[in-house]
Amino acid sequence: MSSLVHTSEFCKSVFDLGQLPGDGLPEIAFAGRSNVGKSSLMNRLLNRRNLVKVSSRPGFTQSLNFFLVNGRVYFVDLPGYGFARAPKHVIRQWHRLVDGYLEGSEYLRAVVCILDIRRRPDPLDLDLLEYLNSIGRSICVVLNKADKISQPKRKARLKEIGQVLPAFVSDIVVVSAKTGEGVPGLCSTLFSRVD
Ligand code: GDP
Repeated sequence: MSSLVHTSEFCKSVFDLGQLPGDGLPEIAFAGRSNVGKSSLMNRLLNRRNLVKVSSRPGFTQSLNFFLVNGRVYFVDLPGYGFARAPKHVIRQWHRLVDGYLEGSEYLRAVVCILDIRRRPDPLDLDLLEYLNSIGRSICVVLNKADKISQPKRKARLKEIGQVLPAFVSDIVVVSAKTGEGVPGLCSTLFSRVD
């Protein structure tokens, strides 16, 4: 567990950009393909078992969920992307809300892009990274589910993924939301972005 997080609380769900907190606190957003373990990882970071809802199957929830950490930074849970069967209007709504936020927030300091360490990043993942870079966002790539890969195989996986990721990705952190491995280090990295 991360000892850097002393308090965490759910603040609000934002369905419309007019509902953003607007209190000037810095924000760190979390993006990931549905089922990559975004909720599990955020719960680990927030030191809470179930603050962020862990879905047993992908849902179509379309809100930005704000969690206040240590009373001084928001962790923002973005809706998961990449539903195989999402209706077109759901995808359109995702873009309106998420793109509007990512492009417009004055307080957003970094976007954590969570990938599954077992999977090669695909065009959808790469599109998101390219998009974030094109709008000038600072990116931290997190490879989750490290517990699923044995230590000897990790180096080769990391090399393979590193070759696919664009050169502008400089921060790559390996974690397991299940075991907590790598999570304190990720927490320090993120806090260093808002200090
Ligand atoms: P989300 O849709 O991205 O929010 O993903 P969830 O947090 O709901 O996790 C999806 C599934 O992956 C759940 O069954 C989790 O228990 C599992 N999971 C998440 N993180 C890890 C991890 O680090 N290791 C393993 N083995 N399973 C994980």
